Amino acid sequence: MPVESMVFPASSRLLPVAALFGLTLALTLAGILARPIESLSLFWPVNAVLAGVLLRNPRLATAPGFMLVYLGMVAADLATGSAWPPALWFNLCNLGAIVTIWYLMARLPRIHRRLRTPHGTLTLFGACAAGGMVAATLACVMAAPWFEQSLRATWLAWFSEQFSTSVLVLPLLLTAPSPRAFSRSTSQPVRLAPLLVLLASLGLSIAFGGPGAIAFPIAALLWCALSYSPFLVSLLTLTAGSTLIVAVAQNLMHFSVPQSEPGVTTLMSARLGIAMLVLGPLVVACVSHANRSLMARLAHQATVDHLTGALTRSAFTRRANALLDTRQQQGQGSPLTLMMLDIDHFKLINDQHGHAVGDQVLRQFALTVQEQLHEGELFARLGGEEFAIVVPGLAPELARFTAERLRRAVQDLPFSEAGEQLQITVSIGLAGCAFDAAAPSLDVLLAEADQALYRAKAQGRNRIEQAEPYRQRV
Ligand code: GH3
Ligand code: MG
Ligand code: MG
Repeated sequence: MPVESMVFPASSRLLPVAALFGLTLALTLAGILARPIESLSLFWPVNAVLAGVLLRNPRLATAPGFMLVYLGMVAADLATGSAWPPALWFNLCNLGAIVTIWYLMARLPRIHRRLRTPHGTLTLFGACAAGGMVAATLACVMAAPWFEQSLRATWLAWFSEQFSTSVLVLPLLLTAPSPRAFSRSTSQPVRLAPLLVLLASLGLSIAFGGPGAIAFPIAALLWCALSYSPFLVSLLTLTAGSTLIVAVAQNLMHFSVPQSEPGVTTLMSARLGIAMLVLGPLVVACVSHANRSLMARLAHQATVDHLTGALTRSAFTRRANALLDTRQQQGQGSPLTLMMLDIDHFKLINDQHGHAVGDQVLRQFALTVQEQLHEGELFARLGGEEFAIVVPGLAPELARFTAERLRRAVQDLPFSEAGEQLQITVSIGLAGCAFDAAAPSLDVLLAEADQALYRAKAQGRNRIEQAEPYRQRV
């Protein structure tokens, strides 16, 4: 543990630490009180949940934080009638599992720790196995007097429960979106088919029974992994895994293995098998999510200019051509204007103030133009300090007013650099077609707007020129 995290928290950090104690107490009490419910007594999720909370909130993972977790668990045990010695010993086993999982996962870079990579998911399996081994070994060493089973059976019971529960519970905590990411996420409709097939295959597992039946949901889980977010897949692996464990424990699946030793039961073997079964879908979920994110990033990069946020030249060409095609299909309907904009004497800004200031001017310029535009109008950076706008629905004569508004907004842009006032201006060339005029190609429109822009530059800059004559009604 890093030295700086060993110090006691400052008063400003007391509140979250107190909350950690409260959470531990509440979770442990809930775990103890749920024990009489037969199916819930199969799981002790407190350790995995606390390891997850500490991994998601690194500021809580201090020496006092771990101490409070231990005290919270002991306090819950004592409050529900446990004697002192077992309360102290058993919770040391629990703390051992929490610290081990936390220690192995906290060292990973965030991308692995949040299970965004197969490496992160595989390491989590290793960490859960190590956590289970530590808890089981401590239990055998320290708490042997309280167990009636053999040491081997005790070790396997602790290990299989800890390992399987951690593997089912922790991915949910590690992949859970933060409140900010959750509010930003677009609510896309979730495909129901993979979920329904998963439910059906779980039903089939239980109805069919036998040792092979625990693998029936694999195909459906893999389909879910390809269709849903890692968080949703974690929720489904938790649901499917715990359903199967309960079904085996209740003997709903009608299988038993010869017991080489009393106490080493089918359930332990099934728990370990089920834990391993969810590894594949979890890895597939993170690989498929990483793929989808990469594709979305590439598509964004190909569409949006990283410096100014305007469309790239290729995206602009695609969309402007689509607009012209639609116009053509609708019988040369509405008018349309293409503007070409070029910042005046931009090279001087670079030369006098440096490239970084030049970039800032480009960004500010693009922002100002974008604020003036309406939905449906295309704005692109064609290259350098040269931009284009397509205004559908307006012929150049009327779009001239829009261009004038843009020209003024750029001229009035308050831009200061190192205390010095910087004024930038823009020249604009217009080309287009009127209502019912023959549709020109994009290349022709660009060439005409470029000629008009050239004239605007030649006539003194900071002005608007229009291609003459533009296309009239035919
Ligand atoms: P004019 O009024 O005739 O348009 O003059 P100008 O100086 O604006 O035109 P010119 O084409 O000579 O210079 C454009 C400059 O834009 C040259 C290039 O260094 C600069 N430039 C191109 N892309 C970028 C960029 O991404 N960032 C910055 N800072 N400068 C860029
Ligand atoms: Mg220029
Ligand atoms: Mg230029």
